[in-house]
Amino acid sequence: MIYLDNAATTKVSEEVFAAIKPFFCEQYANPSAIYSFAGKSMKAVDEARHQTADLIGADAKEIYFTAGGSETDNWAIKAAAEAYQNKGKHIITSVIEHHAVLHTCQYLEKQGFEVTYIQVDEYGRVKLDELEQAIRPDTILISIMAANNEIGTIQPIQEIGALARKHGILFHTDAVQAYGHIPMNVDEMNIDLLSASGHKLYAPKGAGLLYIRKNVRIGAYLHGGAQERGRRAGTHNTPGIVGFGAAAKAAAEKMAENAEKEIALRDYLIQRVLKEIPYSRLNGDAVNRLPGNAHFCFRFIEGESLLILLDQKGICASSGSACTSGSLDPSHVLLAIGLPHEIAHGSLRLTLSAETTKEEIDFTVEQLKEIVKKLRDMSPLYEDFVKQEQKVL
Ligand SMILES: *Cc1c(COP(=O)(O)O)cnc(C)c1O
Repeated sequence: MIYLDNAATTKVSEEVFAAIKPFFCEQYANPSAIYSFAGKSMKAVDEARHQTADLIGADAKEIYFTAGGSETDNWAIKAAAEAYQNKGKHIITSVIEHHAVLHTCQYLEKQGFEVTYIQVDEYGRVKLDELEQAIRPDTILISIMAANNEIGTIQPIQEIGALARKHGILFHTDAVQAYGHIPMNVDEMNIDLLSASGHKLYAPKGAGLLYIRKNVRIGAYLHGGAQERGRRAGTHNTPGIVGFGAAAKAAAEKMAENAEKEIALRDYLIQRVLKEIPYSRLNGDAVNRLPGNAHFCFRFIEGESLLILLDQKGICASSGSACTSGSLDPSHVLLAIGLPHEIAHGSLRLTLSAETTKEEIDFTVEQLKEIVKKLRDMSPLYEDFVKQEQKVL
C-alpha cells in the first residue's frame, strides 16, 4: 500500500507511539486525581503543554487541550463571538476555510452575527486589500486559515495578523495543516487564537489544542470539571495529549529537514505529472505551498473514478476534502480559485509524509498515467474534444 493522504490523517510515528504506550495499561490514572500515581500523568500532560507551546513560541499557560481541530475551531469562533458581541457582531473569514470554520460561521449568522467571506486569488491566497476593506468598526474577529487543507496554499498570516492588530481585532487562525509542518510563531504573526490537531502530525486522533493569548478573555466551550483551567472540561486524554507533545517535540527538531525532503519529492511529483500527463494542471500556489501537498486537476475525468482505480493499485489518495467526498458538488476551494465545475470535478490530492519515498512517487505517477488514459479513452467528452481538435488542425 502507498499512503498519499497525509492531509486527511497521518500514521502515529514510532517515537510518538513509544511515548504514549505507558499511558494505556500502566500510567492510566486520571491526571486530576490527588494520589502520586496520578501526579505522573499530570506531569506528562504538563510536559506536552510545554512541548506544544514551544513549537509556536507560546507560553504553556496559553495552551488548552481539546479533542481535535474541529472542536477547537468551533470553540475559538463561537466563544470569541460571544465574548466580544458587545463591541460588535461582524466577523471576517475566507471562502476557502475548512468546514469546521465555515459551518461555524454560518451557524453564527443564524444567531444574528454578520460574516464577510473574503475571496482568494487564482492561487488560493487571501486578497489582503479586500480583507482590509472589509474591516468595520463592529468587526470583532478575523479567522483565516494558515494553510489550506485541499490545495496546500499558505496564507500571508503575518500580514493578516498585522492588519488585525492595527485595527484592534482578534485574529484566529486554523493552523491544523500548518502546525509542525511550517514555522509558526504567535507573537511574530500577531495570532490571538490558533487551532491545531495532533493527528495531522503523527500523533493519535482525538487530541487537539487551542492557543489563547494571555489577555484574550474567551469563555469555556465545554462546561463541567476544572480541567484546562476551567475552560475545557472533561478528563484529559492522557495518551493523546502525551502523543501530541511528543509529535510537537519531534517537529521542533526535524521540521526543516522533513520539509526540505518533502518539498524535493513533491516538486518532482508535480513536475512529472504536469509533463507526462496531458491536460493536467496544478492547483494552489507553486511556492507558498505546504511541503507535502500536491493537488491536480485532470480534464475529462471524474475524480471519484480516479480514486477508485488508484485504490485498486494500492494507492490511497483523495479528491481534496474528506468532507466533500460522497457529495456531487465540486469542492468550494476549487470553485473559489476560479475553476469551472467540469474541471473541478477531476481533482486529485496527493499528500506526502516525511517517510514517502521516490519509489512510491514513481510508481504512483506510472499508475496515474495509465489510469488517466484509460478513463479518457472511455470518456465521450474527451472523444468530442479530440474530434474538435482534429477539425482545427
Ligand atoms: C483536519 C482539519 C481540521 C479538523 O481537524 P480534526 O482534528 O480532524 O477535527 C480543521 N481544519 C483543517 C485545516 C484541517 O485540515
